[in-house]
Amino acid sequence: MRVFLTGLVILLFAALGASQVGVGLSKAVGGVERVALQETKDGEGDSEKPKTYPKCTKCKTTGKMPCPEHKKSDATLEEGVVYCSFVYTDDLCGGTGWLSCEKCERPDVDAALLKHREGIPDLRKEMVKMDEEMEFELHTVVSEHFVVVMELESLKVGKKRLKRHALAHKYLERLERLYTDYTTILGVKESDFTERMRVMIWANETDQEEGSLRFCAQGAKYGVKLLGMTPTYSVCGTKQYFGGDEELHRGVVHNTAHLLLSAQKPVDWIGDKKGGWADAGIAHWFEDRYFGICDNYCYQEQDTSQGFKGGKWKPAVKKMVAMKEEPNAGTVFSRNTDSLTLEEHAISFSYIDFLIQKDPAMLNLLLKRLRSKTPTRDALAEAFGMTVIEFQEEWREWVADTYPLR
Ligand SMILES: [Zn+2]
Ligand SMILES: [Zn+2]
Ligand SMILES: [Zn+2]
Repeated sequence: MRVFLTGLVILLFAALGASQVGVGLSKAVGGVERVALQETKDGEGDSEKPKTYPKCTKCKTTGKMPCPEHKKSDATLEEGVVYCSFVYTDDLCGGTGWLSCEKCERPDVDAALLKHREGIPDLRKEMVKMDEEMEFELHTVVSEHFVVVMELESLKVGKKRLKRHALAHKYLERLERLYTDYTTILGVKESDFTERMRVMIWANETDQEEGSLRFCAQGAKYGVKLLGMTPTYSVCGTKQYFGGDEELHRGVVHNTAHLLLSAQKPVDWIGDKKGGWADAGIAHWFEDRYFGICDNYCYQEQDTSQGFKGGKWKPAVKKMVAMKEEPNAGTVFSRNTDSLTLEEHAISFSYIDFLIQKDPAMLNLLLKRLRSKTPTRDALAEAFGMTVIEFQEEWREWVADTYPLR
């Protein structure tokens, strides 16, 4: 297996308590809805009527019952996932958490349960390898596109404290939403990804160091990610680094956006090939989309603990542009991710913001070209028909016209 990169150490995280912005996943973004609409139009069509089944009081006509070996609340979490170590068993329900209802016939539900059940043994084998590496039993949940290892015992999510099992599923669900969002916005095909992405959240620095060494080829106390092939993000999820669920969620969104970009065909990490602006820009853009704030940086050396302008970057960029103090696009396009200055991180976010509203499908093309080692200026010319100077001018005008003052 070819590994493109031996992990990029992320040393710092900034500005705890900087924001109380709510987590809305449906913020409208110019140019983005259009893509979503086109996609649904193509996918739907034929007149498939929902089948009706005779009423069953035992299962409320759902066709299945929680397995008596598990709590109903645990079984409920298993819907839509393909493997979960919390309910794994080779007995009664085969690790699905559910059994077919004996009182009624739902062949569609039986088929789905069987498919779920049949997939479990192979996944189990694969997941247990990680337990063997770590020499203890990990808490692992798997969906279509992600593997989540959740070692935190519990975390307060909103007003509710979630225990590990529910917490693991919550993060898995959030990752699947990010995947849907990323692929819908940029018009990325399912077949552009070949592997599940792994997100590992450890409960102490020792496990994080050990885990990141084993799964990301580099040990570090806070966080490491392996980009490109076998995309993995490993992080210590404790209070020491993250104020709470919102901060951890934001960090996971930022870093998983990096994974998605690097794991999409053609697979490569552009952050060390002068594509730092796009690599960081995409990661910041998803942070901003859900939280209205950016406070994650992927640095090797510099101290970013102060963050930049409280993480509210649109007004900061607007001000830079008004004062004509923004860095030159030519300079930004020559940086690797770890050499971007704080200002350049904010500018990179804004470049992506500009190109997404202009044409997200063309941005996807540009990103593909960057991963094929085309320099930014050539990729920009091909995808948007702009020179670097034209890009800078058009972007400046757009920022001045659309960004808020505060
Ligand atoms: Zn029934
Ligand atoms: Zn589960
Ligand atoms: Zn980053």
